[in-house]
Amino acid sequence: MRIVAVRLRELTGTFPYAGHFWEERLARPIDIYPEHRSDPREWWLPEQDGPGPYRLRQIFLQIESDQGAIGLAGPLTRDVARIIGTELRPRLIGANPLATERIWDELYRSFVHGRKGVVMMALSAVDCALWDLRGRWNGDPVHRLLGGPVRTELPAYASTLGYSLELDAATRLARDLVAQGFRAQKWFPRWAPSKGREALRRTVALFAALRAAVGDDVELMLDAWMSWDWPYAVAAVNELAPYRLRWIEEPFLPDQLDAYAALRARSPIPIAGGEHEYTRWGFLAWLQRNALDVLQPDIYWAGGISETLKIAALASTYSIPMIPHGHSVPATVQLLAALPEPVAPWVEYLLKWNELLQVFFKEPIQPKTGIIRVPENPGMGVELDESKIEEERELIWTD
Ligand SMILES: [Mg+2]
Repeated sequence: MRIVAVRLRELTGTFPYAGHFWEERLARPIDIYPEHRSDPREWWLPEQDGPGPYRLRQIFLQIESDQGAIGLAGPLTRDVARIIGTELRPRLIGANPLATERIWDELYRSFVHGRKGVVMMALSAVDCALWDLRGRWNGDPVHRLLGGPVRTELPAYASTLGYSLELDAATRLARDLVAQGFRAQKWFPRWAPSKGREALRRTVALFAALRAAVGDDVELMLDAWMSWDWPYAVAAVNELAPYRLRWIEEPFLPDQLDAYAALRARSPIPIAGGEHEYTRWGFLAWLQRNALDVLQPDIYWAGGISETLKIAALASTYSIPMIPHGHSVPATVQLLAALPEPVAPWVEYLLKWNELLQVFFKEPIQPKTGIIRVPENPGMGVELDESKIEEERELIWTD
């Protein structure tokens, strides 16, 4: 079998969301600068301000073989799509799409400056599309090709990125998520060290209110999105300790491994991270430095299904759970269904983000009573709904 086409399909449709999609944003490392700190906007889609419904454009990768097999991945950002369209496509045409290890290794060796970041994200998307192709070709879900199912149902935790952090609204949502059946939920404080003592006071007040709202049996997590510094982090882990958080995520920029390790050594709250790390070599360094309690690779960023399987194997040798970042739920569900519970216990489900990312799917993957049933359909288990595509064009870069 040979790859004959690598298409980048830009789809336009309607995202039928009532009201303002982003009510609040998270803290960002760049918020140390006042002009960025005061910027209320999210960085991501939908592009227009104001309430929905929103006009939406998303890019999907479609790889096609000479025997009619098709694999899909996406949605992808434009920079990732451009790298696939310009740099990876010529190396993929003519290759055997079932030889995923060969393709991964060839691309990795071809782009030694792309070991981390956007090129690895492009390689990840290609790998996911090829696993989808293999599944569809065989008529099997990807988890079966990986030796599963080990599990047919996966607990999801709810990530509240984009919801209001006002105490009334936040505690209402927290209770609602418990009522929906979620046993764990993650929150993203908007406040960071640049706001000094007030930031920590508001963060502690939020988690005190959340703990009171959800009771003792629900797990709470905090995502700092790389926006803390050392003094703030030390104060925060101590002041948040009474609220028994399951983890604090990405307190520091991802190059500050020793800060992670030092904080982990003294923090009463476990430390999570890794969504901005890539490949088995990247994660091995974190494990060897004792820097994390929870590893969070994103399958669409860290190297695809092929590479995240290797990261899971590494993490399991340290008895450190891998709980992937939740950008790519369909792929995550397939991989986790082929892994034992202690190796990869939960799926992250970003509530708003997953609505947005699955707009064009026929049957979006959604938790019910906090549980995701692993789809049995071939490939990654999701299909584009052609009736939702209002316009389409193929992106072609000539440079
Ligand atoms: Mg995160």
